[in-house]
Amino acid sequence: MNTMTRNYQVSPSGLNLFKDCPRCFWLEKVRGIKRPRGIFPSLPGGMDRVIKLYFDTFRAKASLPPELHARDEFRGLRLYEDHARLERWRNWRTGLEYFENGGRLFGALDDLLVAGEACVPFDYKTKGSPTSEEDAVRYYQTQLDCYALMLEANGLKTAGYGFLLYYSPKEAGENGNVLFEIQPVRIATDIERAKSLFRQSAAVTEGPAPKASANCEYCNWLEKFRK
Ligand code: SF4
Repeated sequence: MNTMTRNYQVSPSGLNLFKDCPRCFWLEKVRGIKRPRGIFPSLPGGMDRVIKLYFDTFRAKASLPPELHARDEFRGLRLYEDHARLERWRNWRTGLEYFENGGRLFGALDDLLVAGEACVPFDYKTKGSPTSEEDAVRYYQTQLDCYALMLEANGLKTAGYGFLLYYSPKEAGENGNVLFEIQPVRIATDIERAKSLFRQSAAVTEGPAPKASANCEYCNWLEKFRK
């Protein structure tokens, strides 16, 4: 087991950055240089807020919304009942954590389903068009693995899978109200994979800057500029 830098902290999106480019990750964690980002759209955050409130109305009634209740994938599942605890886990400051060897993995959940005695991490996603299962796995496998790991670290058993619920605009209806298509994607989770990624990412911050990717246009541009 590697020795982690004291105060090493990372979120699932930080681990995604690590998977995407260890050098960009190293620059952010070690040097505090973040990737440049464009204007961040506020629509996904607004969608998350209203969808959480919508699901909370069904949590209070101990039922699933009818559009999920009717689907085979959700048979036998219910919403996590402890709303107060869920609210803490939804907040970045009081969210889920996993500690190992001086390092901390942290994250905030959207929601939680329950299958028998086991929990199922549940996250809402907003996208311009329906997704493919391949893309859902590519972008969100790490997030669901990490949620499963952090739930287990909090003493909850997990079911070995999570759900993403995609909302994509379908058409503008009466009075300009936009109708959304919903698309659930079930993804198997693996807490050992999350631990391994967490350890690898911590180890990278202990060493020198990793090499830049040969295919990255930004680093290639910088290299040309230097020459
Ligand atoms: S290769 Fe691209 S993604 Fe990696 S460090 Fe350079 S700019 Fe960042």
